[in-house]
Amino acid sequence: MEIFYARIGYSNIVLLKNGETAILIETGVKGNLNHIIRFLKHKNVVPADIKLIVLTHTHHDHTGNLHELVKLTGAPVLVHQNEFENLKNGFTPIPKGMGFYTRFVSRLGSIVIPRFASPKAFEAQIINENEYNLNPFGIDAKIISTPGHTNGSQSVLVGDTLVAGDTFLNLSNGIIFPHFCNEPSTLLKTWEMLFNSGIKTVIPGHGKPFALEKAVPEFEKWKRKIK
Ligand SMILES: [Zn+2]
Repeated sequence: MEIFYARIGYSNIVLLKNGETAILIETGVKGNLNHIIRFLKHKNVVPADIKLIVLTHTHHDHTGNLHELVKLTGAPVLVHQNEFENLKNGFTPIPKGMGFYTRFVSRLGSIVIPRFASPKAFEAQIINENEYNLNPFGIDAKIISTPGHTNGSQSVLVGDTLVAGDTFLNLSNGIIFPHFCNEPSTLLKTWEMLFNSGIKTVIPGHGKPFALEKAVPEFEKWKRKIK
């Protein structure tokens, strides 16, 4: 099986490919459908090869192009049960900011543009209640619940690689702990669980893949701050 990722707008999408079967994780920032189609072509994937679309959570920058990709591939969409309603209603609250500036942006945004973080409404066909095995789709991987960034955040575990959505970032300014986060203390518990899961590599929602151990100092820092 092969894992590929591409930056679509400022968010990553990930393709899990096994011969002529593939799963797409995330659908990027809206307005980038052609970029995604080029990426698939480059990886020798035709739209009908995609048997499932997985969303790590329902923020707009991970769910752009969703309707177009569903139409193109015919694939069902899988979300966590705690995000299902958000996607169905096209409303996901703006997460809390973790710093002075991001807190300001989050509060102001919630008043001025409450739908800022929201996806375009879509009713997902498949719900993950906690864990979800992807083997029936021809891909040796499983979805695990990784709450914190949002309480319905989920990640895909492929061997010792974690496709993490916004459970981890890897920004050029050094940020790994998401600067917008609904439940910071829950996220720290999730990180702790992941540190004990034999994971080596993380493909974050934003930024390049990195070795999980890089997140340990941030974990210690936020643990001191949040408790
Ligand atoms: Zn997010």
